[in-house]
Amino acid sequence: MLSKVARSQTVSLLRRGLHSSAPSAVSVATKKTVQGPPSSDYIFERESKYGAHNYHPLPVALEKGKGIYVWDVEGRKYFDFLSAYSAVNQGHCHPKIVDAMKQQAEKLTLTSRAFYNDVLGEYEEYITKLFNYHKVLPMNTGVEAGETACKLARKWAYTVKGVPKYKAKIIFAAGNFWGRTMSAISSSTDPTSYDGFGPFMPGFEIIPYNDLPALERALQDPSVAAFMVEPIQGEAGVVIPDQGYLQGVRELCTQHQVLFIADEVQTGLARTGRWLAVDYEDVRPDVILLGKALSGGLYPVSAVLCDDEVMLSIKPGEHGSTYGGNPLGCRVAIAALEVLEEENLTENAYRMGVLLRRELMKLPSDVVTAVRGKGLLNAILLAKPTHGDIIRLAPPLVIKEDEILEAVEIIHKTILSF
Ligand code: PLP
Repeated sequence: MLSKVARSQTVSLLRRGLHSSAPSAVSVATKKTVQGPPSSDYIFERESKYGAHNYHPLPVALEKGKGIYVWDVEGRKYFDFLSAYSAVNQGHCHPKIVDAMKQQAEKLTLTSRAFYNDVLGEYEEYITKLFNYHKVLPMNTGVEAGETACKLARKWAYTVKGVPKYKAKIIFAAGNFWGRTMSAISSSTDPTSYDGFGPFMPGFEIIPYNDLPALERALQDPSVAAFMVEPIQGEAGVVIPDQGYLQGVRELCTQHQVLFIADEVQTGLARTGRWLAVDYEDVRPDVILLGKALSGGLYPVSAVLCDDEVMLSIKPGEHGSTYGGNPLGCRVAIAALEVLEEENLTENAYRMGVLLRRELMKLPSDVVTAVRGKGLLNAILLAKPTHGDIIRLAPPLVIKEDEILEAVEIIHKTILSF
């Protein structure tokens, strides 16, 4: 089943055994009159009536997930080829992460950072050693990680680089997506994100993606604090820069004393077949942003990783969050990272990605004009835009060979039905 969502591209749930249409959207009474579980139609209408209309979901009401599969309230089974925008890399309801969550939930969930807790330090030591950075700053959502990075960059620019107070600039790449806060939309080039929400955050500049000469020109300004960029632009439609771009970014940032912030919220944590997408070019950004799969989809957990020179420019009381670093989130994050390690999901994502793209290339070329991606972050480009012309294919990383083949078969039939 393929349908357009609120962002610029199409995402996919693949109905097993069928390439059927969505459940019909007939009107139902909003008052629940019959006993028993609610139908899909009832669920659609209730959300529409009582919830804000800031999303336009596919007409599928899910009630259960396990591994790479989800089930709707009528019991229909689907391949999940979106993975909650890459948050459930470990598969839905991974038993190890669920267990970790249950055990910690019965013990201690939240203390605030007014006190120490016995899990935060363990998590901090684990994640910083895993990614080889001095320190981590824990937050909750991906966009908060981005906000944190912007604050760190500005503070570092004033206290270390010597940029005159409140003159710091942060450069972004066109097509970026890092969330919905005022800062995130201020750096967006997508009118659906920013239009109608100004005035915008000052001190932000946008240059084209995958354009090193444009970056070099922008970095001539000595007030530039940072360049924040996705190693592969996920929401823009899985846009992969030229080989050498990330190395070029690294070199230019070093040359001009500018922080290279890699937004790996979507691309990180094994999604592209490496721990981080920047690993493909062997570069070490100054700041790494993680989120989404850091909890395997159980809880909002995000992180900013960097070295002391940058991290210690923020002092006690200058930044934080009530929930950031809470013991429940930390326990879940430790388990989520351990699953990625223990199940070799980086390697599986790499191998299954090669297989998926090979199979997708066999689709009729008059309908599917291109296949692109790394690991299990992939997209196909359709010749005739039916519901948008880019379909992202990003299953959980636990997917196996026979499941990839079955899914491609469903995609094949679906595409032929267009
Ligand atoms: N950064 C990137 C690259 C993303 O793709 C997203 C979300 O899609 C975010 C940041 C924001 O994450 P969140 O929705 O958890 O705030």
